[in-house]
Amino acid sequence: MQGKKLDSTPKAYQPRAEKLDVRYLKGVGPKRVELLNRLGINTVEDLLYYLPRRYEDRSNFTLVRDLKIGEYQTVKGKVLTLSGHITKRRISVFQIALGDKTGVIYCVWFNQPFLKKFFKTGQKLIVYGKVEKYGKLQINHPEYEVVKTGTDSVNIGRITPIYSLTQDVSQRYLRFLAHEAIERFLFSANEKLPAYIRARRHLADIRFAIRNIHFPASFGNLDKAYKRIVFEEFFILQLALALKKRDVKTGAPGIRHKLDARLIDSFKKLFPFELTKSQLKAINEIQIDMANPKPMNRLLEGDVGSGKTVVAIYALLLTVQNGYQASIMAPTEILARQHYVNISELLMPLGVNIRFLVSGLKPAKRLEIENEIESGEADVVIGTHALIWQGVKFKKLGLVVVDEQHKFGVTQRHVLRKKGLNPDVLVMTATPIPRTLALTVYGDLDISVIKELPKGRYPISTWCVEEQKRREVYEFIREEVKKGRQAYIVYPRIWSTGQSGLKAAAAMYNKLQTEVFSDLRLGLIHGRMLLKEKNDIMKKFKDKKIDILLSTTVIEVGIDVANASCMVIENAERFGLSQLHQLRGRIGRGDYPSYCVLLGSPGTEAAKKRFYTMSQTQDGFKVAEEDLELRGPGEFFGTKQHGLPELRFGNILRDFEIMEQARTEAFEMVREDPYLRNPRNSFVHDALKKRFAGRLELISVG
Ligand code: ADP
Ligand code: MG
Repeated sequence: MQGKKLDSTPKAYQPRAEKLDVRYLKGVGPKRVELLNRLGINTVEDLLYYLPRRYEDRSNFTLVRDLKIGEYQTVKGKVLTLSGHITKRRISVFQIALGDKTGVIYCVWFNQPFLKKFFKTGQKLIVYGKVEKYGKLQINHPEYEVVKTGTDSVNIGRITPIYSLTQDVSQRYLRFLAHEAIERFLFSANEKLPAYIRARRHLADIRFAIRNIHFPASFGNLDKAYKRIVFEEFFILQLALALKKRDVKTGAPGIRHKLDARLIDSFKKLFPFELTKSQLKAINEIQIDMANPKPMNRLLEGDVGSGKTVVAIYALLLTVQNGYQASIMAPTEILARQHYVNISELLMPLGVNIRFLVSGLKPAKRLEIENEIESGEADVVIGTHALIWQGVKFKKLGLVVVDEQHKFGVTQRHVLRKKGLNPDVLVMTATPIPRTLALTVYGDLDISVIKELPKGRYPISTWCVEEQKRREVYEFIREEVKKGRQAYIVYPRIWSTGQSGLKAAAAMYNKLQTEVFSDLRLGLIHGRMLLKEKNDIMKKFKDKKIDILLSTTVIEVGIDVANASCMVIENAERFGLSQLHQLRGRIGRGDYPSYCVLLGSPGTEAAKKRFYTMSQTQDGFKVAEEDLELRGPGEFFGTKQHGLPELRFGNILRDFEIMEQARTEAFEMVREDPYLRNPRNSFVHDALKKRFAGRLELISVG
């Protein structure tokens, strides 16, 4: 709308980069168009924004004699010899000797005999890879490029871009195209960031940035270009978050819950313990939100066992006291059931009507509960994703609590919220997230953090133990049981598949019950059991009728049995760091010292780090940070569904300072110009619409 006015004025005859199809570039035929599309390049603008993966300083090659073993480096040299052979194990080895005036290095490829045809002695090559030494210097499977003779200012003698490729597209070809696009169409690239922001943040203009991100005149220029492009990406993302937050705040009014000063006093009396400072602070932040007519949209972050549920219960009470209904959605039936049991025990005596809704119910029962929800007879409804069924209609839904939110997709939360008229929303997560990431993933939420664990908790000792000590581990469990405690043994699988060599819960159940713990009471629980079976087992464990519970990761989330003091995790090298931490959070909840045993052999460096971190700290924030470092943000969150926006250029961890600046500017822009109607913001508005076309609610918690 706004952009249109501007678009129609200048140079109608001169196509802009954003609209121009790549096919109009020199050297791009129909076949190539297809290949480029595969790389996500459709328009000339896409090409301009197709950033190099890394750079090689080809104005300055490392001489063979100066190469450092173990590092990734670039070498330029001449092909001296080619040779190939087949090993005893029938692996074909192809090797070339590459020399410069100071020495020789060997490039080796396995199982690529066809390369023979590609190289010739006397050719000049640039190769890149990890330099190793096995008697002689060697690079296995290097990236390579043949140097053509003649003048060539694009590919050599400069800081040269290296792009991600697809088959049949070469570095040289992409470089050529990028160069073409820059020379002919860079002038028409839209400057999306308003000048005042660029000035304030010392950001290069877009033309400088694009030119220098592809063909940097110096590494200093490259830095400036990178900063500018990443800023733009973060800015558009944060702008979307800011707009979403604006909608929540200025959209249809929500519910104004009335506060009652006496509530907190009677609430405190419900528990045999004192609330922690963090809990009281979170409660206060939540009630201030709830008293405000703007809908609450708050994240409650806290380590496992920090007492988030207690905080949520306060919000439930406040809602019910105001004559509204509240719901809690938990990711598993076991967890929902546990909330149901605990919360009923606390609130039923106060006359609060609580219902339980999961997918395993008999149709008649389900119908009955649905009716009670619709008539308003049910005050609090606790359940799983079954809550978001179409049939479930609330009379007056005033509060939505989503527990262990990282287990849910964004859409599911969104649907539940839509069942009320702008209800207050509280999401709880036990995966503590470093601040930078929180600003991105939950950038439109307000955040409360529970930092301290309840007083009097014993620390958990964590040991890493190898297979040879299995007997001793079993003995240790036996000792704990003798003292009246209970134990978990967690397995990566339910059933064994034979080949994997992984321990499986069901098989071990029989073995342990007959051979090792025949005098003790064992239980087995896993995800393939019926809901009723699972509940029976959990109840027995809670009632101390089971000494040792063998399980899969179904107990990962939220289970609370204070008497269990001991956990053994089998094949612990198979689990991610956050997952190990979540599992361990099941113990250390009572008045006893607790023990976690990681049984397994960490084969990889990453696994060793995970074991080490677990043995060194119990602080969920530290664990999360380490996990993030080990796996990167994408893996850390599991799937895109969990709200992590796809970033093409920036790296949330490395570039967090840029992220914070971009966030400040974006929120400022929306404060001043809530609908982005100011013409100076029109290009960024267009870019935003293009980036998030119709998916605005999907970029973060909905
Ligand atoms: P989370 O949901 O954060 O994992 P929970 O709310 O389930 O933690 O609390 C874990 C356990 O600690 C529960 O048994 C709960 O009753 C207990 N608890 C909660 N707050 C406190 C407190 N302030 N002091 C002592 N125990 C507490
Ligand atoms: Mg919990």
